[in-house]
Amino acid sequence: MLRTHTCGQLNISNLGETVTLCGWVQKSRDLGGTTFIDVRDRYGLTQLVLNTDTDADLREAGKQLGREFVIKVTGKVLERSNKNTKIPTGEIEIAVTELEILNASKIPPFLIEDETDGGEELRAKYRYLDLRRNPIRNNLVLRHKMAQEIRKYLDGLDFIEVETPVLIKSTPEGARDFVVPSRMNPGEFYALPQSPQTFKQLLMVSGFDRYFQIVKCFRDEDLRADRQPEFTQIDCEMSFITQEDILNIFEGLTRHLFSAVKGLELGNFPRMQYADAMRLYGSDKPDTRFAMQFVELNDVVKGKGFSIFDNAELVVGINAKGCAGYTRKQIDELTEWIKRPQIGATGLIYCRYNEDGTLKSSVDKFYSEDELTNWAAAFEAEQGDLILILAGETDKVRKQLNELRLEVGGRLGLRDKNKFAPLWVLDFPLLEWDEETERYHAMHHPFTSPKPEDIALLDTDPKNVRANAYDLVINGTEIGGGSIRIHDRALQSLMFKHLGFSPEEAQKQFGFLMDAFEYGAPPHGGIAFGFDRLTSIFAGLDSIRDVIAFPKNNSGRDVMIDSPSTIADTQLNELKIKTTVSPA
Ligand code: ASP
Repeated sequence: MLRTHTCGQLNISNLGETVTLCGWVQKSRDLGGTTFIDVRDRYGLTQLVLNTDTDADLREAGKQLGREFVIKVTGKVLERSNKNTKIPTGEIEIAVTELEILNASKIPPFLIEDETDGGEELRAKYRYLDLRRNPIRNNLVLRHKMAQEIRKYLDGLDFIEVETPVLIKSTPEGARDFVVPSRMNPGEFYALPQSPQTFKQLLMVSGFDRYFQIVKCFRDEDLRADRQPEFTQIDCEMSFITQEDILNIFEGLTRHLFSAVKGLELGNFPRMQYADAMRLYGSDKPDTRFAMQFVELNDVVKGKGFSIFDNAELVVGINAKGCAGYTRKQIDELTEWIKRPQIGATGLIYCRYNEDGTLKSSVDKFYSEDELTNWAAAFEAEQGDLILILAGETDKVRKQLNELRLEVGGRLGLRDKNKFAPLWVLDFPLLEWDEETERYHAMHHPFTSPKPEDIALLDTDPKNVRANAYDLVINGTEIGGGSIRIHDRALQSLMFKHLGFSPEEAQKQFGFLMDAFEYGAPPHGGIAFGFDRLTSIFAGLDSIRDVIAFPKNNSGRDVMIDSPSTIADTQLNELKIKTTVSPA
């Protein structure tokens, strides 16, 4: 090896040793006669001292050095007079006797420091330099540790890691597929997997019994901070289990990760019915780091002549604790915020429970102070609280109030990144009505089993059929989801029928799976966690981008390698593809 130690390794116990280090020049200060250099590698930083007065070679080499030059130095470990207690190597320095420049560097386009001056675009273009920075590298080290712990935990429970193919046929999980043309089969395409769903079920038919894979998945969706076109799942499937077994094992995995990687011991995860999550938080992924549950007010407020409340399907509100002091301006701001088209509320009604015990609402014309006392009671409000109320169609108004709750929670500092509130959401509906296509879609995916006691409702009341489906939510982020699957050809066919597939279409797309169900398919179920999201929560980040080594930007581009890109006509000809659009 070129070096005897790393740049993070040496300390007072190495005094007097002759050592060789390799690394990048972080900083160099010429103090006339002596040059101090900080040399850095992924392990840390070590101070070098070059006595340029007495050594002409060192003087020459030292002069050429710039930031990010790669060097190899040999020298003696000395005690520093000016100690830095913040870093493990801060008590020593190396008196350099030999310095070799292994490679020069152009001046980097931004500072390779914890706090950098580089904008997002620039850092993305030079991602390999950004990855030299501690905060970004630490995220990847964290990710690595988590991956190791996941493998250890699942291996310990007899799960077998099996790789499933990347060139497959569409799996309908609700998103668009990325497709790959097949040269050998002109006019035909592979799809990249949105998840290994059908393959992991086939592995259960094969008797693998406990499968997992840390696996890349691909979805051609519009991007957001917590979405990338390619992302990683911790994908699992098990046979001969109940929903309870899956919840226990994957709650165990999550607890193990928090304990092994963050040193945090989480208690049992609370569980909530989907219907309750929607009623109390207006979301199937409630942030339960704080309470502020919805209070429904139809019985309290209707029939007093206020038409907005009287005509609304649902009147519902939250109690912003301690916010009675909000000024008119602050409330107006919130009102404007919630009326933005992204959220689309028509207005916000409020009631202050003042410190002096008086109650004052924005609809005093219709409600006497006595009546407002009933409001306050419904919210269990105390003096100093501010009640915020929305009215409208049930689904819409719940969604809007969910946004308001998160916003107010954020403003009150209740969404602490160092607090972790896991939650299982259970009993999702099997089907979801899609306005656009005027059809039912599978809420999770078409392989999810209805609750046996609800199967009869499929014909009469499909909306109210519940599934054996569950999600794990942490801090308002959906970390993963899964279900008990259908393992019977007849029920799977019935499901496809309800999803609007003709028997021929169903056979063409999923014949392979339904055929397999006829050869002894065991009862089975599974789950998949979003590994990027889980890592970003562990890292305390809002975006998954910085837990991915080489992520794409919001337009799905990798600006470093400049992809996607056009391909040569010869390639297109080989693939028998004609393009009619020219790229933007
Ligand atoms: N394949 C599903 C998904 O990607 C997870 C599962 O049902 O196991 O959401």
